[in-house]
Amino acid sequence: MPAYSALTHLECSRTGSRHDADVVQGTSPVGAPLLARYDLEQVRATVTKEEVAARPPSLWRYHEVLPVRSEANVITLGEGMTPLLDLPRYGSALGVPALKMKDESLIPTGSFKARGAAVGVSRAAELGVTGIAMPTNGNAGAAWSVYAARAGMRSLVAMPVDAPEITRAECVVSGAELYLVDGLIGDAGRLVAAAVAERTGYQEISTLKEPYRIEGKKTMGYEIVEQLGWRVPDVILYPTGGGVGIIGIYKALLEMQELGWISGDLPRLVAVQAEGCAPIVEAYQRGDTESVAFPDARTVAFGITVPKALGDFLVLEAVRKTEGTAVAVSDGELLAAQGELARTEGAFICPEGAACFAAVRNLRATGWLRGDEEVVVLNTGAGLKYPETVPVDVPTLPVDGRIPGAPEPR
Ligand SMILES: *Cc1c(COP(=O)(O)O)cnc(C)c1O
Repeated sequence: MPAYSALTHLECSRTGSRHDADVVQGTSPVGAPLLARYDLEQVRATVTKEEVAARPPSLWRYHEVLPVRSEANVITLGEGMTPLLDLPRYGSALGVPALKMKDESLIPTGSFKARGAAVGVSRAAELGVTGIAMPTNGNAGAAWSVYAARAGMRSLVAMPVDAPEITRAECVVSGAELYLVDGLIGDAGRLVAAAVAERTGYQEISTLKEPYRIEGKKTMGYEIVEQLGWRVPDVILYPTGGGVGIIGIYKALLEMQELGWISGDLPRLVAVQAEGCAPIVEAYQRGDTESVAFPDARTVAFGITVPKALGDFLVLEAVRKTEGTAVAVSDGELLAAQGELARTEGAFICPEGAACFAAVRNLRATGWLRGDEEVVVLNTGAGLKYPETVPVDVPTLPVDGRIPGAPEPR
């Protein structure tokens, strides 16, 4: 029987150097993210996409191209195979009738961070890690805490005080050791790194500082293609902070090409950021291969408040190689899009996902998007996690009050 995972080794994303995948690893010797590599030829020879399609509807259906070696080590809360929804009314209003949304609000913890956490925690546990430590903008800390609890692992989390409040409760209720930091994610990262250096048994799993979070997130790419009938869309838009999701989707597309599961042009990948924190957009516009730390970063789309991402060069490569682009939208535009989508399609999405819809509107207006193109937006999380993004200004009635239109009391 073919192995559950076809993982062969880890590869430095800068130098291509090869590293052992069966011991706990952080970044490569030059400090760059390590990427998991698989024996794709063997997978191609032993698994068909029809077989994959007949498996249970979770991200573990792609287990040959995930790093967990033994099915017994899978830590799951039922993540993956989220809906790919048509948005006919909103899409037509934007002039892109074939607009679709990959809706990650329907996943444990209400954000796509669950994908990275499920795979990352499972693999860490398999390699003997007993505690994870991380800085977060909220959702990743919540997801990793919950999956760590499921794995019987400890977790240490630090997040900015401005991170969505509900994510604090998710960490605390699942037993994480949580600290709030009066700063940004980079400040939280420095505090965590210093603490981990003094503790044993904890692995630091900051964005792209361990190799397997990206493997979980790449499954969004596999699912979009499978849900379209093993076909790629014309364009995919992704709200980009640390960039793991877009790097992962690009990796998934390249793997599927090698597996013979897709052919032809890749979709153009679009990295969307907020004007208040747009380091990758600025680097793209300058023609640079790396970003410069963005000063005074601030946006309501808190999950994408990452002033300098370790994997910025990989995001820029994914965007350029696919002839995509990188664009920023204002908080006003993204909040407007959040409301428009809820009113026209009944979907209450997170502000990060809403940024992508605002970008669709702008890119259609400039002609970068054509009206006949199939466009997939990643909604990375549930609006329910961000109640403060919708001001509720409605009257409170006295019990003997009257709703306009009702008859006068007699
Ligand atoms: C973390 C996060 C993002 C950004 O994800 P990256 O892969 O780090 O770019 C986008 N949206 C939400 C809701 C998030 O929590």
